[in-house]
Amino acid sequence: MSYKAKILLIYTGGTIGMRKDFDTGALKAFNFSKLLQRIPELKQLDCAIETISFNNPIDSSNMNPAAWAKIATIIEENYISFDGFVVLHGSDTMSYSASALSFMLENLAKPVIFTGSQLPIGDLRTDAKENLITAIQIASLRKDNQPVISEVCLYFEYKLYRGNRTTKINAEHFKAFTSPNYPDLVESGVHLKLYPELFLKYIPDEKLQVHKDLNTNVAVIKMFPGISEVVLAAILNIPSLKGIVLETYGSGNAPTEDWFLSLLKKAITNGLYIINVTQCSGGSVNMGQYETSTGMKEIGVISGKDITTEAAITKLMYLLSQNIARNEFKILFETSLRGEITY
Ligand code: ASP
Repeated sequence: MSYKAKILLIYTGGTIGMRKDFDTGALKAFNFSKLLQRIPELKQLDCAIETISFNNPIDSSNMNPAAWAKIATIIEENYISFDGFVVLHGSDTMSYSASALSFMLENLAKPVIFTGSQLPIGDLRTDAKENLITAIQIASLRKDNQPVISEVCLYFEYKLYRGNRTTKINAEHFKAFTSPNYPDLVESGVHLKLYPELFLKYIPDEKLQVHKDLNTNVAVIKMFPGISEVVLAAILNIPSLKGIVLETYGSGNAPTEDWFLSLLKKAITNGLYIINVTQCSGGSVNMGQYETSTGMKEIGVISGKDITTEAAITKLMYLLSQNIARNEFKILFETSLRGEITY
């Protein structure tokens, strides 16, 4: 008899399981077991599915590090018993959560696939069924008695992406996500087309390590022409702040004005980590390419290279919680830990 993969479906909330509130007309999270009854197709899948749900499912706009720790704990407690995990999650912050979990789950050797939908599963035109069914199928894939995928991914609208490479790009199209700097891992058409050369390597011998404590003393600052010294100074002087993700222009450029660079320099000297990421939707930071980034390179701003903002902020939370020496922090941030940057 052929082996049946065991998949744990983790329901956190999101549109996929929502229903219209009778009074307000707004979409609200709904009971998960009722929701599953609407997908009889699940019984036809060639795997054994068990489910677990957040007690109070949430709209993913309410997602936070405590809820990430809950997801990580569920995976940790069920890691031995299951071959793969599918996390049902709202699309709004799904890229943040997939990025966070990729850092929290070190030495992952099984698939963790985030998915959700733009329309509730009960809606006639829903995208939920395809997303859910194919995500489960991909999580069940095995070759030579091992999982084919062993990383945190995001499946949406016929594409499997590396989770920490994704960003939400559209609030109404079924194609809600993209992976601007890394190719799709799997494409779903008549057949599933896999690109194994792009997958993270399977690491069977290392024990899964789960990092649940993230440091949230972080901020994202998006540069814009006209940003003032008082605004930037007010943020950089927050006493508990440990790191910021600075969204700069193009290949990592920002003003060359003295006040700007001296504020950053003072903050770095006081121990703050500043990560330079581009606010462009694709491409990489390359400090030193233009005069408008040379100054930042010289004062010790860290390059986020081609990382997304979602992966940068969660990687920052993760590394800050790890007690890393200052010189090592920069090296680690600029190195790919879970396939989140290209170089
Ligand atoms: N607001 C919803 C959420 O993120 C949107 C969705 O699920 O697509 O939970």
